[in-house]
Amino acid sequence: MTDPSATMNRTKEIKAFFNQLLVSQGEEGDIGFTSFRSVFNELMPIQQQRLQTTVGSQLDILLNEGSMISIGIAYRDPIMECIDSKINKQPDYELWNKYAQEYDRLNQLLNQTSKDIAEEFNGIPLAATIGGMASKVSHVKDYFGMVISHRVVAENSGVGWRGKNQLMIHEKYSCAIRFASIIVPYPLKWGEKSESKCGNCRACEEVCSFIKNRDILPDYRENCRKYIGFLGSKGIEKDVCGKCIKACYKSSTFREVFSLPK
Ligand code: SF4
Ligand code: SF4
Repeated sequence: MTDPSATMNRTKEIKAFFNQLLVSQGEEGDIGFTSFRSVFNELMPIQQQRLQTTVGSQLDILLNEGSMISIGIAYRDPIMECIDSKINKQPDYELWNKYAQEYDRLNQLLNQTSKDIAEEFNGIPLAATIGGMASKVSHVKDYFGMVISHRVVAENSGVGWRGKNQLMIHEKYSCAIRFASIIVPYPLKWGEKSESKCGNCRACEEVCSFIKNRDILPDYRENCRKYIGFLGSKGIEKDVCGKCIKACYKSSTFREVFSLPK
């Protein structure tokens, strides 16, 4: 039988540890907790297999009482301006690439932070992302088995809601926040999944026809992958685009509410 006060204390300890790391890094972010089982049940079969391989013989314990920790680190406000900025009415790819570099920096930071938390609290870190894959796979589906969705972890933890652009929308940082996860073999104080708050907002659809037409395209994520490949040919590194992130942060219904660190 799990002791609720021990669960609460452990949750507080992990939060405090993460917040301390953020302060020492000079970053802002958020943390949430959910059950291992809820994430496992929502993953695609190919991702479930991957998770199974990652945790090995711990699977049964994790399904019974394990947790997943979602950690997010936010972008900084000025970097949003670099995305799809124009020079003489043409995209300034050099400036846009600064966003790609920041994406990479946040991933490195998240990878280290997830390792630090895992080490301190007997967990298994799941790295932020695998970069450089857009051009190495022939269809976006080939990518799914290589990763475990941090969005599913974040969504189940209640860290944000799933936006029309399919990203996690954090109530303060919009979707300008990157995530990593940690698996731990004990219960924590789990959050609750949030309903979408997008409502009538369409800012992300207005900047991306793939999002707008997602219901009629065979798989709009494949269009997104190809566009990211095109951006790669223009010198944008790390498989990023970011237009739907900028639109959400700067032009959505919530633009006055969202606030990234300066
Ligand atoms: S990343 Fe770019 S191409 Fe992909 S969905 Fe967002 S705006 Fe569209
Ligand atoms: S831009 Fe608007 S509709 Fe799109 S994800 Fe953000 S809040 Fe939701």
